[in-house]
Amino acid sequence: MENLRTPGPTPCPEPVLQAQTKQMINHRGAEFQNIMNGVTQDFKTLFQTKNDLFILTGAGTGGLEAAIVNLFSPDDKILSVSIGVFGDRWASIAQTFGADVTSLKFEMGEAADPDLLRKALQADPKIKAVLITHNETSAGVTNDVASLGRVAKEFDKLLVVDGISSLGSIDCPVDKWQIDVAVAGSQKGWMVPPGMTMLSVSEAAWKAHANAKMPRFYWDFSRAKKYLEKGQTPWTPAVSILYALNVSLKILLQEGLPNIFARHVRLGNMTRKGIKDMGLKLLVVDESYASNTVTAVWPPEGIDPDKLRKTLRDDFKLILSGGQGKLEGKIFRIGHLGYCSEKDIEDTLSAIKKSLPKHGYNPK
Ligand SMILES: *Cc1c(COP(=O)(O)O)cnc(C)c1O
Repeated sequence: MENLRTPGPTPCPEPVLQAQTKQMINHRGAEFQNIMNGVTQDFKTLFQTKNDLFILTGAGTGGLEAAIVNLFSPDDKILSVSIGVFGDRWASIAQTFGADVTSLKFEMGEAADPDLLRKALQADPKIKAVLITHNETSAGVTNDVASLGRVAKEFDKLLVVDGISSLGSIDCPVDKWQIDVAVAGSQKGWMVPPGMTMLSVSEAAWKAHANAKMPRFYWDFSRAKKYLEKGQTPWTPAVSILYALNVSLKILLQEGLPNIFARHVRLGNMTRKGIKDMGLKLLVVDESYASNTVTAVWPPEGIDPDKLRKTLRDDFKLILSGGQGKLEGKIFRIGHLGYCSEKDIEDTLSAIKKSLPKHGYNPK
């Protein structure tokens, strides 16, 4: 079997795979309503929120678009805090729908600096909202959303967070951090296939929604709310993914949030230590911001990371991700989120160690 160590899609436990083989049901019927209400409640627990929560059919990027079109009007000023490819993508979604986006950008490998966020917000009082990527999957860096969010709230701005590769894996307490909209994606830490995006919506976000004029139909929160009151979704949902979530979220709740977070800390530490012990360098500049769901690695001088990945795939059935954006062809990334054990990481590190000599590097 393959060792799929990409930061999404991630492997699924056997009972989760089995759940998806169940026969279809009427998505306007009582059985569906039970599942929908249960899974919504479980997500609220795992998001650590009492806010409204919607499970919508689509990729994570659809969730990012939903957050934008439901909160804003064209010409609204938005501050995008970006530390990599996914932060940039979100800014360009907002621009596409006509928002006036100011970008506060940091080099890939760096975390966003709360003091610079404060300066940016002081410089332009018209800014309505701050977009932040909690865990930047392209760089293996986790932003300090607690501190960044506190700054956003000093200025009473909406705090809109891409938690796609953190929620359910890295602590991201939505209510405690006053996150107005938090976005998740099913194929990351939730141990189910791609197909669903989940969003929490605060009271302040609903107020913004009431005046938001951006065009929207499929992603409309008002429609989602109206249907959720009946335990339904406005459009036919990915029913099989809901079956899968109905099992996977129970497994996660059984493990418990503190244990889930602690497991990801262990996996993150183990991955980084193993990489450094081989003499390789991490992309993250300050390790206190290193991500516990994905590690980005510089290959040794002169080694093509994409060729190394091919060897890992051919010889060890180990699948890693390459670099994105300006780091394409320059780095490789190891996913360690969701259904991942210490053994999976041991196997990953051992395969990398055995493959490097083939490319002319003898690890320490
Ligand atoms: C994976 C990911 C996305 C995009 O999700 P898709 O389901 O591929 O659209 C966005 N943001 C972050 C942080 C991600 O990790």
